[in-house]
Amino acid sequence: KLVSREFHPEDTIIRVGGQEIGGKTVHIMAGPCAVESREQILETAAVVRESGATFLRGGAFKPRTSPYSFQGLEEEGLRYMAEAREKTGLLVVTEVIDARDVGLVADYADVLQIGARNMQNFILLKEVAKCGKPVLLKRGPSATLEEWMMAAEYIMDGGNYQVMFCERGIRTFESYTRNTLDLSMVPALHTLSHLPVIIDPSHGTGKWHLVHPMAKAALAAGADGLIVEVHPQPEKAVSDGKQSLTPEKFQRMMADLGRLAPAL
Ligand code: PEP
Ligand code: MN
Repeated sequence: KLVSREFHPEDTIIRVGGQEIGGKTVHIMAGPCAVESREQILETAAVVRESGATFLRGGAFKPRTSPYSFQGLEEEGLRYMAEAREKTGLLVVTEVIDARDVGLVADYADVLQIGARNMQNFILLKEVAKCGKPVLLKRGPSATLEEWMMAAEYIMDGGNYQVMFCERGIRTFESYTRNTLDLSMVPALHTLSHLPVIIDPSHGTGKWHLVHPMAKAALAAGADGLIVEVHPQPEKAVSDGKQSLTPEKFQRMMADLGRLAPAL
């Protein structure tokens, strides 16, 4: 299989906007769960850049559990993300939830995110295979390693070899945490596949105070990067405020992670 280490013994390095994911440098992707306003995303971009992030995250299309929750600013949100890239040099990673929007999102984003809920949306996977941009493929909340790798295979089979895995926690019997962050996937994927592995300690725990320790654990396990939710005022966030770091806490975490990953 294209995704397997047997097919491609060397680590895949994804080159995007002058950055290399899967190489020696660990990449930190940071930003709010959702793009809420121009001010919010520009302010967050400036502070995460200052702390050493290389990518700005933020959802313009939000897959929400309730249809009554905020669904995202859509193209307006994408425009604000692109403006933040212009102003900070951060690259943009953002989710696409509908095959019909892949072209639109690819016009603005540097990396397209496939959310956990869409890991096995095969129509969407085939569409991002044709978009010409790297893909961050989140693990479905109940997907096995094999199913996850086969989802990546869809994208690669469609002609796009620039795929990175993102572990964001799975559903278990534990209810203290929002999900159970399965860090064993880092060495498991590095054994079975050549693709980079990113860890999301925010969705993986659901609690801001668990983010920093799990981020450290992820780097210790060999993760190629982290994707972390940061919000200027988490208590006012329209989504995922409980798992979002303040800029100050993010800054502190980044300083600490620098001891594990000196390039940060
Ligand atoms: C997100 O990154 O904000 C998100 C919706 O993540 P997931 O698909 O992992 O739930
Ligand atoms: Mn979120």
